[in-house]
Amino acid sequence: MLSRLYLRKDHRNLLESPPHLRKPPTLSPLFSDRSNIAHALELARTGFEDEGKGIPIGTCLVDNKTGKMLRVGWRRRVQLGSATKHGEIDLLENIDSLPARVYRKSTLYTTLSTCTMCTGACILYSIPRVVIGENDTFLGGEGILKQHDVEVVKLDMQDCKLLMKRFIEECTEVWWEDIGETGKGAAE
Ligand SMILES: [Zn+2]
Repeated sequence: MLSRLYLRKDHRNLLESPPHLRKPPTLSPLFSDRSNIAHALELARTGFEDEGKGIPIGTCLVDNKTGKMLRVGWRRRVQLGSATKHGEIDLLENIDSLPARVYRKSTLYTTLSTCTMCTGACILYSIPRVVIGENDTFLGGEGILKQHDVEVVKLDMQDCKLLMKRFIEECTEVWWEDIGETGKGAAE
């Protein structure tokens, strides 16, 4: 079963993951990883600040050889009333006519650790490299990605954590619902 950050009802500790879930960031990410994840973070802000408190998770897909940003997406579950419109899925739906080989030589950037659904999508499309802004707020399917020989890079970016913290403080019930918990259930 996938690990999930233990979320306490006490919001003061929302960003303190248990010691057994704490993993150090990747020691030597590419220089471009930080600029690409910064772009994904701006997309996350778009969803939260410009589109009416959407869940702030941004994504982008970058060609490994050229560094070109191929497509972007952000989580729009709240905006569209969708059960599946995660950033990664939004991005994949924006791919339109790109051939399958494009996925296989690209890196997917996401500001928050990939959930089970999006982990499956990365594996399905043979995306070889996934860069994660942070995984303290939520720990998704990184172990599964590694089992499928996907390179997982963790940046442990404070800006990504702070945006999620703001969102969770302002939209707590939406967050509980998004990760399949209820406030009451999560408190018990
Ligand atoms: Zn997802």
